[in-house]
Amino acid sequence: MSQPARAIAPSHPQLEQAKEHLRALIGFDTVSKNPNRPLIEHMAVHFRKLGAEITLLPDESGQKVNLVARFGPEDQPGVVLSGHTDVVPANEETWLTPPFSMDERDGRLYGRGACDMKGFAACVMAAAPAFAAADLKRPLYLCFSYDEEVGCLGAPDIARHLAALPVPPEFAIIGEPSDMKLVTGQKGKIAMRATVTGTSGHSSFSPRHVNAVEYAGRVLQLITERAAAYETEGPFDGEFTVPHATLLATMISGGVATNVTPDHCTFTFELRSIGENDPEGEMAALIESAGEINAEMQARAPGCGIAFSRIFAYPAMNDARNSAGFRALSDLMPEYGGKVSYGSEGGVFEQIGGIPSVIVGPGSIEQAHKPNEFVEISQIEDCLEFLEELTVRLSEA
Ligand SMILES: [Zn+2]
Repeated sequence: MSQPARAIAPSHPQLEQAKEHLRALIGFDTVSKNPNRPLIEHMAVHFRKLGAEITLLPDESGQKVNLVARFGPEDQPGVVLSGHTDVVPANEETWLTPPFSMDERDGRLYGRGACDMKGFAACVMAAAPAFAAADLKRPLYLCFSYDEEVGCLGAPDIARHLAALPVPPEFAIIGEPSDMKLVTGQKGKIAMRATVTGTSGHSSFSPRHVNAVEYAGRVLQLITERAAAYETEGPFDGEFTVPHATLLATMISGGVATNVTPDHCTFTFELRSIGENDPEGEMAALIESAGEINAEMQARAPGCGIAFSRIFAYPAMNDARNSAGFRALSDLMPEYGGKVSYGSEGGVFEQIGGIPSVIVGPGSIEQAHKPNEFVEISQIEDCLEFLEELTVRLSEA
């Protein structure tokens, strides 16, 4: 008797290469505090061997490097495939396997960065021989940045570099984990620190002192009121889970003892904006509204007051579906997945580089920034399939 036929779907021909690339990428400890140069050099060697035109964009230290690898003609508007190479720390004790060495089990690939977002980088590396072999009529720009997780610090240089090309790319696909769905919006963020300076003394003489913690409380009240206005007055975009801007305080410290009037208080706060907001103008207005409190403190004692400083900011990514770059590829785009509140480099490409952007990438944001981060192997296969279709499309005249 013959064996019954078993239906085993053949795996994607590049799957094994993608796994091996991911294994190598996870092996580089690229937590944002560390240099990413060794990983970038590893990727650059691979792309260069295949004939890509390589541009390295280092930061001042030379230890953090962005990579731009171009396949295809430079005199046509191309498509960007973008990812960041840094990862968040992996100090949790609940990792079941070492975070910087890939482990395959249960149809998943585990390791720090597996989904956010070395899985995407591994797919791009596995697809690169096909990019090289194809007769691309329009170029592909493979862009890999540093320090996304600490405020999109690397990507602005890439966006400026691309914008300055004689023929800049017209569309960017950011491979952040989206379950391989099409994500068309991402909130922007401005993270701020407020430093409140008062005067200290024995708390029993409190009327003589300028209480930094209590003045900080008054500024916090302004933040809370403004946040409530976003919630009730908008602007709104129903495609976001939280359909409006959010504003909140996130950390605070001040004071030294229960019986000392505090002369120092610092707190951080953040604004997450949608495309319809004017985040810079709204942040400026918020700071302006604290001017009265500041003036009152300065009038009470010299040197007192509130100083605001920016920690970092990145722009929102707007809906690219009306752009020519998107329309040329719209039939390749996967199922629609809405808009997301997490940050990505899409806003940077759009706002600084003028390149309309979407997010499509393997893995789920649910698994990002957590112990035992993983990407489903089926997601890697879906991504390889997507890149294959993209290659075919860009090869058509
Ligand atoms: Zn990410």
